[in-house]
Amino acid sequence: MDFAQARARLIAHLGGEIRDRRVLAVMAHIPRECFVPPEEQLSAYEDMPLPIGLDQTISQPLIIAVMTEALELKGKEKVLEVGTGSGYQSAILAELARLVITVERLPSLAETARKTLNSLGYTNIEIHLAGETLGYQDKAPYDAIMVTAAAPRIPDDLLKQLAIGGRMVIPVGSRFVQELYKITRQKKGDLVQDLGGCRFVPLIGKNAWEKE
Ligand code: SAH
Repeated sequence: MDFAQARARLIAHLGGEIRDRRVLAVMAHIPRECFVPPEEQLSAYEDMPLPIGLDQTISQPLIIAVMTEALELKGKEKVLEVGTGSGYQSAILAELARLVITVERLPSLAETARKTLNSLGYTNIEIHLAGETLGYQDKAPYDAIMVTAAAPRIPDDLLKQLAIGGRMVIPVGSRFVQELYKITRQKKGDLVQDLGGCRFVPLIGKNAWEKE
């Protein structure tokens, strides 16, 4: 399988929807095949989510691109990602921002992501295991927050970790279907935009969903 060719085809397809050239350029060279289990590698450049074990998924490339674009990263930001999963989204963020703090609740996924990201040479990504409070308060405030699991409502705990003027993208809705929200934190009255429908695995924890 020619991964480079498959990747170029996928990026050309995403180019129809995504305007931020930096997002496309970064996705055009990150090897998504390294972030999926061996049996999924042939599908690595299909525009769809793929299983990564423990009932979790690496998100669909188009939704990843839409969410990344919405964060409006210019290069100097400190970004929080909630839901490390495979580490693919962390790699994208790391190439577009200064520092990525990413949290994962399943230790074995965090460990696999750590190995993959180390082997690809990333040095500006910190992976932490999720604590009791959503996100990672110790390093707040963040210029941008990306939540890659679905919440029943916009969690206050995460909003508090966002800097004034910062952007957060988060799927909000039921356990099975959600709307993707972009929230821009303002001194008064946060700005909330609906970017469209989506489907994510549930965000588990206090002020989110209970473990099944
Ligand atoms: N961004 C990932 C997709 C991850 S899927 C990627 O690029 O591959 C969502 C992940 O969120 C799962 O791995 C799940 O275990 C994790 N998760 C769920 N609830 C969480 C929480 N409260 N804190 C941190 N991670 C959480």
